[in-house]
Amino acid sequence: MNVRWSARLVAAAVLACLLLAAPASSRAAKAVVARGAGTIRLACPSQAIAGEPFMVRLTSSWPLERVHVLWLGRDIDLSVSQWNDYDVALALLGSDVKTVKPGTYDLVVKADVNRQPRTFRRKMEIRARKSPVQSLSVDPRMVTPPSEELERIRRESQEIGEALSIYTPQRRWSAPLFQPVDGRVSSVYGVQRVFNGEPRNRHRGLDLAAPEGTDVHAAADGEVVLVGHHYFAGGSIYVDHGQGVFTLYFHLSKILVKKGDQVKRGEVIGKVGATGRVTGPHLHLSVYVPGGLADPAPLLEKTTDDLLRN
Ligand SMILES: [Zn+2]
Repeated sequence: MNVRWSARLVAAAVLACLLLAAPASSRAAKAVVARGAGTIRLACPSQAIAGEPFMVRLTSSWPLERVHVLWLGRDIDLSVSQWNDYDVALALLGSDVKTVKPGTYDLVVKADVNRQPRTFRRKMEIRARKSPVQSLSVDPRMVTPPSEELERIRRESQEIGEALSIYTPQRRWSAPLFQPVDGRVSSVYGVQRVFNGEPRNRHRGLDLAAPEGTDVHAAADGEVVLVGHHYFAGGSIYVDHGQGVFTLYFHLSKILVKKGDQVKRGEVIGKVGATGRVTGPHLHLSVYVPGGLADPAPLLEKTTDDLLRN
């Protein structure tokens, strides 16, 4: 080997070391290192029960940009974070036991990988949920509202629709969520509700029974996007956690936050009550994700890795 070649090899080795030592934020350097020996992986489950939340994760040694997920008619932009030498985009998705029929659905992830557009396609099987029937006796006005309340109910549902259509690209949730109330589970997700003998919507939340006045904690960092005293839900708080994920807290006796407030995971935001359509004091917790109102229970227990497997 002549001197000129060995000098070039040394220079190349030094350059390689410099590139390998470059900080993760140095995207140009990372692109060079990753070329030729990069890895990219899409992790997601292949099936879920109707209403069951799950996660999708794209991990790449190449820089990721413009990552988005197409799921059940939604197109969700994902923020990219750095983990060791990898770019990672993570989504929390689900389906709604009321609106999503069992079947096989397309899950598509699109991203610019090292500036090249790439598309990843998966099939997701949504299986039927077996749910018991729960019969409850409530104030008849809470089953068939009087006509003078219909305008109020219509206005509230419009406000709720507007709040849930807010889209914040930054991810502020993490799994498992913080359990908002230390209470007994008094009703699970998906139960077919019969009020005063009349069938109504399936229960799309988790009820945690606790004495009136018990602290209600935020399930994750986020921004309060709606508070109100709603006809069916009573004292209500809606928190946006980013990437289309919201937590909803109903039947509160006290609301300690206002619209626009930033809340921290575990922060006390309200108190358990018995307002709206209830049979006793409890917190109704709902989790709204791309795909609809999903079952909160798995999100209070499962880690990201669990939710990627289902
Ligand atoms: Zn409930």
